This record gives sequence, structure tokens and C-alpha cells, in this order.
Amino acid sequence: MRHLVWFRADLRIADNPALHEAMTDAATVSAIYIDSPGQWQQHGRSAMQRDFLSRNLQALAEQLATLGIPLTILTADSFTEVPTVLSTWLQQHPQDALYANRELGIDERRRDKAVQQALSDQMAIRVFNGDCVFQHGSLTTRSGDMYKVFTPFAKTWLAQLRAYSYRLLPSPAAQGKPLKVEKIELDGEQVSSAHWPAGEAAAAKRLSEFCQCHLRHYGEQRDYPAVNGTSSLSPYLALGVLSPNQCLAAIENELEGLPMSRGEPGFVWLNELIWREFYRHLMVEFPRLSMSRAFKPDTEALQWSQDSEAFAAWCAGQTGYPIVDAAMRCLNETGWMHNRLRMIVASFLTKDLHLDWRKGEAYFMSRLIDGELAANNGGWQWAAGTGADAAPYFRVFNPTTQGERFDSQGDFIRRWLPELAEVPARHIHSPHDWLDNQQPGHGYPKPIVDHKRARLHAIAMFDALKDQEAL
Ligand SMILES: Cc1cc2nc3c(=O)[nH]c(=O)nc-3n(C[C@H](O)[C@H](O)[C@H](O)COP(=O)(O)OP(=O)(O)OC[C@H]3O[C@@H](n4cnc5c(N)ncnc54)[C@H](O)[C@@H]3O)c2cc1C
Repeated sequence: MRHLVWFRADLRIADNPALHEAMTDAATVSAIYIDSPGQWQQHGRSAMQRDFLSRNLQALAEQLATLGIPLTILTADSFTEVPTVLSTWLQQHPQDALYANRELGIDERRRDKAVQQALSDQMAIRVFNGDCVFQHGSLTTRSGDMYKVFTPFAKTWLAQLRAYSYRLLPSPAAQGKPLKVEKIELDGEQVSSAHWPAGEAAAAKRLSEFCQCHLRHYGEQRDYPAVNGTSSLSPYLALGVLSPNQCLAAIENELEGLPMSRGEPGFVWLNELIWREFYRHLMVEFPRLSMSRAFKPDTEALQWSQDSEAFAAWCAGQTGYPIVDAAMRCLNETGWMHNRLRMIVASFLTKDLHLDWRKGEAYFMSRLIDGELAANNGGWQWAAGTGADAAPYFRVFNPTTQGERFDSQGDFIRRWLPELAEVPARHIHSPHDWLDNQQPGHGYPKPIVDHKRARLHAIAMFDALKDQEAL
């Protein structure tokens, strides 16, 4: 039997259900990756993530080669061309079965349906769950619906873990002699991602170092951007270089058991992995989330501002709010941003500048090395008050007090805003008076909005929705 594994957002050989199953009972296994540069662009994904994709594909090809599995890179500019490209290739390389792990986005699902229609007469097509601990759609309320808020979802997720644990697949054994690998070069703009080591071994090393050094203190350290307290594993999870099961195994290994309730060491990190799953399950259940639509339909009527200058200032880190500006300049430079800062800048864009969350979502996607539809959309809609969130819409982050709380000495701010390098800690979050006195001509912008007034306006925007409902 000839089995073909189609790699997509699962660029690993360990704990990969499609690869694992394909290698069971097969005489020969080969692999493909179908690159879609046009689709990448249409989805607004970043040039840095594209470079990281290319480097991880290279690492995957080398890993597969050690098992005697060749990886062929095909190109279909957009997803609509995938069935034709794949069928043409299969004419020259006939196969008995195609194996793949499921993807979530609506375009990916439509692509897969088209492939199914084109090929199901010729070969068996087998699809697996490789991106979540529990398969999308498997965790539901008693009436069979997907949860719309996080806490009950997490409760059921934990109950499932308690009852069934998780399944970590063994790494596959070699099917033949090692192969030679050629250099993989993808088309399209790429920005160096060299400061993120590529490949499964690098991800596994980072995971084990994080668990050894930070897991136990994650709950106390995770909110401080100047502290190296979170795992920085998101770029690997986003491309599937690492699986969530591997994260659970590493927690279990470090703590000699899995934390099952709040207060236990390691639980707060586990909880973040559950957030990741929550957003992924939501994306499958509510395809409108992949189509730039609000989770709460009534919030489609919000009257967002069209102020393009304010948007440009936010993108460039020139809002006059130091924590927001430092975060945005860090994103622009490195392609990554700390979670606390993502919440602060997203709240600022939507609740202080009253700009549409979709603008922020797209900008993040265009810059992030870990850009990932479900988490990005979930995070933006959570911050904007349009998403799956139990908190009331009048939660508005105050960028100054957030800075005071989570970067109290201004260490993170000074790292990214050289013009504030000399500002003492007690002035760093509202530096303008000090700068005007001590460094006239400093060039740091005045705040582009008054937070108190902006907050009231944001609340009024949401109140107007309720008034519309009442009419
Ligand atoms: C506005 C906004 C946009 C975001 N966009 C993305 C995105 O495009 N890609 C992305 O992977 N994450 C996104 N997140 C979630 C979160 O900020 C990042 O996953 C996290 O900062 C990555 O750092 P880490 O790997 O050190 O995370 P850790 O704190 O070590 O957490 C471990 C893993 O859990 C997952 N995770 C953690 N927090 C969340 C969360 N709130 N939602 C979903 N998954 C989570 C990630 O896979 C992460 O790598 C976004 C959050 C917000 C508020």
C-alpha cells in the first residue's frame, strides 16, 4: 500500500496522528506540503512567519528523510487550485490513501471538501485531529451545543482529561534508509525569523526548559512583560511544530502528574492551553469567526471610528501612551508580543481609539510570527467586547495604570522607547511633564486621546446597541 501524508499546520513527526496512522500497515509512505503563496497573502499572514514556515519545512524534510520518507513541496497559488495541482501530481505518483490532520479555517475546510470531491473515487482519504487535545465538536453542553463562554468549557475539558487522559503518539520508526534533502525555498516576501530556532528539537528543548525553570512560577510571572516568564512556544504551536499533547506530557513529566484544579502548581499554564483549545473549538462551531464577523451578532452594528491617523499612530507605536507604544514597537521589530501587552494594545485600539477590532486583528496577523486565526480572532474579539467573553463590555483597560501595574519600573518601556531612556520610574507612565522640563524637543508624542473621555465614549457606543434593541 502507498500512503501519502499531506502536511499542513502540523509540521512535526512526533505525535502526528496522520503520519502515525499512515505508517501503520503501509508498504511505503511519502509526504507532500502544498504551498499557497497567494492564499498566504490573502490571509494577510506575516513575512516573518513565512520565513519561519520555510525553515520549519526544511527541518521537517530533514526529519522525514531520516525515516526514509521523501517530502515534496508542491505549489498551488490559492486554495482553489489545490485539487487540480494535487490530482496532476497524483497522476504521476499514484497513491492508495491520503492522510491529513484537520484544519479549522473556513477556507481550509472548503479546500479540503473540494479535494475530497476530486479524489474520493480514486483513493481513500483519512482525516485526523492533530491540533487539539480533544477533537473539535467533542465537548458540548448537555443539550449538545458548543460552549459560548470559557469557564464551563474548561470544566468539561478538565473532566474529559480526568476521565480519558490524553493520547501522545510515539515517534514513528524509520521505513528505509536516510534520504538526501534539498534546500527548500518558498516564494513570497520573507523577513528573517533567525532568532527563533526552527524544528521539533528546538521546540522540545524550549518546552522542557520552560517546564523546568518557569512552569511552577508561571502564575506569578506571566503578566510582567519585562520578565521572561512565559513559554514563547506560540510560534511552534501555531505551525504545529509542537502539539498540545506534548505540552501536557511535559507538564506531567515535570510535576509528576497533571494539575487538575486552580491553585495547583502548573495549573495556570494548563489553563492557557485550554484557552487555545476553546478558541479553536469555537472557530469550528461558528464559521462566521473565520469570515471577519463578530461572535456577538448585535455588535456588528457598533459605529467604529474611521480615523486613519489614529490607526497609523497605533501601528507605529506613537500614541503617547508608553506601554502601548513600547508594545507596538516590540511587535514591529520582533514579530512577537507578550500576552498582557496584546490585551492592553487591543483594548486601546478598540476602546480608546474606537477603531474596528478587525483592523487590529489584521495588523497583528501581518506582523506576528505566531499569527494564528483562532487565537488572534478570539483575543481581539475578547478585547473589543464583541466576542465569547463573560465580562461586561464596560471593562476598559486603563493604559496608564496597566503600565504602572505590570511594568512598574518601566524596564520594558525603556527597552523599546529610546526617547524615554532617561525618564525616572515614577514618571515613566506619564512622562510628558518630565520630558518637557528636562528634555525639551524630546519628540515623544503627546497622548493622542484622553483616556477618561475615550472610555466613556466606548461605553456609550455599546449602550447605543442596547437602545437599538429596545426600539
Ligand atoms: C489581541 C490578542 C491577539 C492574540 N493573537 C494570537 C495569535 O495570533 N497567535 C497565538 O498563538 N496567540 C495569540 N494570542 C494569545 C496569547 O497572547 C499568545 O498565545 C501568547 O502571548 C503567546 O506567548 P507564549 O507562547 O509565551 O504563551 P504562554 O503563556 O506560555 O501560553 C502557552 C500557549 O498557550 C496558548 N495561549 C496562551 N494564551 C492564550 C490565549 N489567551 N488564547 C489562546 N491561546 C493562548 C498559546 O499557544 C501559547 O503558546 C492573542 C491574544 C490577544 C489578547
